[in-house]
Amino acid sequence: GHDNLATMMKFDDRQQNMQEQLKLDPFTGLNNKKTFDDYLPRLMEECRNAQKFLSLAMIDIDHFKSVNDLYGHAMGDRVILYLSQTLQKLQNENIRAFRIGGDEFALLFKGCSTEETRKICEYLRTQMVSCPLRNTDDKRVTLSCGVVSIDPENADLEMLKNAADSALYAAKDNGRDQVVIYNELVPSPESC
Ligand code: GH3
Ligand code: MG
Repeated sequence: GHDNLATMMKFDDRQQNMQEQLKLDPFTGLNNKKTFDDYLPRLMEECRNAQKFLSLAMIDIDHFKSVNDLYGHAMGDRVILYLSQTLQKLQNENIRAFRIGGDEFALLFKGCSTEETRKICEYLRTQMVSCPLRNTDDKRVTLSCGVVSIDPENADLEMLKNAADSALYAAKDNGRDQVVIYNELVPSPESC
C-alpha cells in the first residue's frame, strides 16, 4: 500500500526531473536548442493572439576559437559560464535565454519594443568587459549580436530566424563587438 505509493511518487518525481533536465544545456543550465525550437512557434502564436511584438536576438562570442587557443579550454569554459550567468539574470516573464550550441546563444523577447530590446542587448555586450579574461591581461572578450523585432502578424518563423542570422552576420562583418538591428540594415543593391 503505502510503500508502493511512495515508490510510485518517487518514480514520478524522477521522471519529471529527467524531463526538465532534457530541456536544459547540462554545462550552463540554460534552456537548450530543443527548448528554443519548441518555444519559438508557441511564442509567435501567443504574440499574434495578444498583438504583441516579438524580438529575437542571436548572440555569438567573437573569435572564441582564439580564446581557447590562447588561454586554454578551461578559460574558454569560464567565458561561456560568465555569459550564461549574465543571460540567466536577464530572464523574466518576458525574456528567455537559450544556449543554441557552442558559443552561440539566443534571447527571445515578448512584447518589447525594438528600443527596449536594443538596450538589453547593448547591456549584455558591455557586461563582457568584466569577463574573466580581464584578470589575465588587457585582452577583452567581446560578442556580436543580431536582433530582429517583428509584429508576428506579418512574419513567419523562417523569416524571423533568417533576419536575426543576417543581422548577426552583419555585426561580425562590420568588425564584431556590436549589436545590429535587422530592421535598420540598409538593403544591399543586389537584393533590391
Ligand atoms: P567568430 O567571431 O566568427 O564567431 O569566430 P569564432 O572563433 O568564435 O567562431 P568558431 O565558430 O570558429 O569557433 C567557436 C569555437 O567555440 C570552436 C569550439 O571549439 C569552441 N567551443 C564550443 N563550445 C565550447 C565550450 O563549451 N567550451 C569551450 N572552451 N569552447 C567551446
Ligand atoms: Mg563565435
